[in-house]
Amino acid sequence: MGNTLVGKNALVTGSTSGLGKAIAQKLASAGCHVMLNGFGDPVEIEALRHELHSSHKIKVDYHGADLSKPAEIRALVARSIEQFGSVDILVNNAGFQFVSPIEEFPEEKWDAMLAVNLSAAFHTTKATLPGMRERKWGRIINIASAHGLVGSPFKSAYVATKHGLVGLTKVTALETARDGITCNALCPGFVQTAVVDKQIDEQSRITGVPREKVLEEVLLSKHPTREFVQIDQVAAYVLFLCSDAGASTTGAMLSIDGGWTAI
Ligand code: NAD
Repeated sequence: MGNTLVGKNALVTGSTSGLGKAIAQKLASAGCHVMLNGFGDPVEIEALRHELHSSHKIKVDYHGADLSKPAEIRALVARSIEQFGSVDILVNNAGFQFVSPIEEFPEEKWDAMLAVNLSAAFHTTKATLPGMRERKWGRIINIASAHGLVGSPFKSAYVATKHGLVGLTKVTALETARDGITCNALCPGFVQTAVVDKQIDEQSRITGVPREKVLEEVLLSKHPTREFVQIDQVAAYVLFLCSDAGASTTGAMLSIDGGWTAI
């Protein structure tokens, strides 16, 4: 499955931590060149870049574009094309969470979340599609969420952006269906990353559930399995979608959520 990906060029947004980092590692291990993006400590980012390059003998570059800014997104895509020659695989992964009742939800957080979790994927897709169409091959994977399919209280902006990302996925798939390009939305349940850890205090304050019980009573109670989704399970799904075996899967909302959305 991996061999077909040797020498393909991948851009993974938000790949300095969590799911994006694991996806970048997975694609690198399959032989893809990788453009990293995201915030973080420059020393750690350079260590990641170096580690991917030396372990897998592939080209790795990093661009620190702030995905709330369309001009920086265009610069990120331009740099990827300049360095590697193309973007064959686009993983729109960068995103963040903010938890608050609607009446208290800060307007600037709403705007920022729309920009990063949703509009950024529009801008990267717009900038990478012409090259994918020319080469008649492309894979776009939008990291949505179970919250792209169902709602939860206190997550108005997150749920709205992830539902929006699912909509963008469907339209992208339809517009590219005859061009060797697929576009799919992965919809994970809870995965233990910074996105989850950062909401524990806020969930505790809003719901009144003690901090140490938030994981089990507020988050994992959504999963019939009562277990977190593993980071590597999401990364492996991305690899499948990029492989030849994934060529007919397009416009799909793919749940990896321990049964959450079966209820
Ligand atoms: P994370 O916080 O570990 O990673 C988020 C990444 O996005 C980081 O690299 C961060 O630097 C980057 N980022 C954030 N804002 C950015 C900006 N303005 N410009 C550039 N980069 C930016 O979190 P994660 O859990 O790995 O989340 C990755 C994606 O997975 C997000 O879209 C999230 O919504 C989604 N997701 C996460 C879970 C979960 O339970 N962790 C579940 C479903 C979906």
